[in-house]
Amino acid sequence: MKVLVINSGSSSIKFQLFKMPEQEVIASGLVEKIGLKNGEIHYNTQKKSVNIEMEIPDHAVGLREVVNLLMSSASGVISNVDEIEMIGHRVVHGGKEFLNTVEINQDVIDRIKSLFNLAPLHNPPNHVGIVVAQDIFPNARQIAVFDTSFHQTIPEKAHTFAIPLKFRDEHDIRLYGFHGISHHYVSQKAIEYLHNPKAKLIVIHLGNGCSMTAVKDGKSIDHSLGFGPNQGLIMGTRSGDIDQGVIFYLMEKFNMGAQEVSDLLTKKSGMLGLTGDSDLRGIEERANNGDEIAQLALEMNTYRIKKYIGTYAAVLNGLDAIVFTAGIGENSELIRAKVCEDMNYFGIELDANKNSIRSKEIREISTEYSRTKVLVIPTNEELQIAKECFAFQQK
Ligand code: ADP
Repeated sequence: MKVLVINSGSSSIKFQLFKMPEQEVIASGLVEKIGLKNGEIHYNTQKKSVNIEMEIPDHAVGLREVVNLLMSSASGVISNVDEIEMIGHRVVHGGKEFLNTVEINQDVIDRIKSLFNLAPLHNPPNHVGIVVAQDIFPNARQIAVFDTSFHQTIPEKAHTFAIPLKFRDEHDIRLYGFHGISHHYVSQKAIEYLHNPKAKLIVIHLGNGCSMTAVKDGKSIDHSLGFGPNQGLIMGTRSGDIDQGVIFYLMEKFNMGAQEVSDLLTKKSGMLGLTGDSDLRGIEERANNGDEIAQLALEMNTYRIKKYIGTYAAVLNGLDAIVFTAGIGENSELIRAKVCEDMNYFGIELDANKNSIRSKEIREISTEYSRTKVLVIPTNEELQIAKECFAFQQK
């Protein structure tokens, strides 16, 4: 069967067409700069690459162009929209409503809309993607896969904030967690690799956004992102954990409003705020050339990850493996080395040679004596969504 996976953002649509259960990618691509005159469509199949620049006023126009490419005589892979049996949508916030992947109907759409205030930047474009796809593929089953669902197993003692409970009970203010589709995929792969469904794992997702999950019995039991996407690790442009006293001090001392402080902490902080650069490759290069600010930023970044490893090892009461994933986790030898430095108390011993090998495969980069294994597992959120669609169809 063919499954189209759609990740609809505020000005972009990422898509991948899979043949399942073979997990074969038939076509993939990206529509970007939606709403602008110089919109772009990038489309790839195993044989062809097509790049188009055109005005893309809205998501509907963008997705229709994708469908035209999927069916075109020059680069198409299907002859009819009905060949696509299922559409899997990534939805960032499922609140406490959605514990699992669901088939989309009007009630589900209304509930996704009711969560707009919890994820004002993400859920509205996810919702647009669903509505547009329903129109273009009227006969396909549409499935919603939520980034928060995997974290719904986090126990109350870990997801509740120590503020009056009415804020949780009446206003849904609690830890939800994000990147769940990636953490789910990567932890399953680690469990398969280790042949141990009970493995105690810490999954470290380091991309532009960064997060860590403690996984026990295949379930998320704690996670570093919280109510919003700026808790925990130091990220490309986000501060992660910060003393809330700083927020009130900024507001009073500089007369900053809530939105200004929020923008400062989420768009102008993290690696960007420290170094002026949010992309890790540039920062690593500067550090290698002796730039002390870049060196400090890398020290701070990896120190924070170490602190969370300590926390989660305590929560798990043991550790079988730590797993690196996403752009930085999969590619940065330096970050992995710094995180694993002086961690023998936790049984972590990195093999420098294995760490330096570049590969797109799952790999073990700890020494054979390391009590805790160190794994690198490439994430694949789109495939996870396609797998969940396929599993849904089997039900
Ligand atoms: P997103 O969260 O947007 O999906 P990615 O998972 O693609 O992000 O990760 C982007 C980050 O990965 C950037 O900071 C980039 O610098 C970093 N990255 C990608 N390749 C490398 C590399 N070879 N070495 C170090 N960092 C890398």
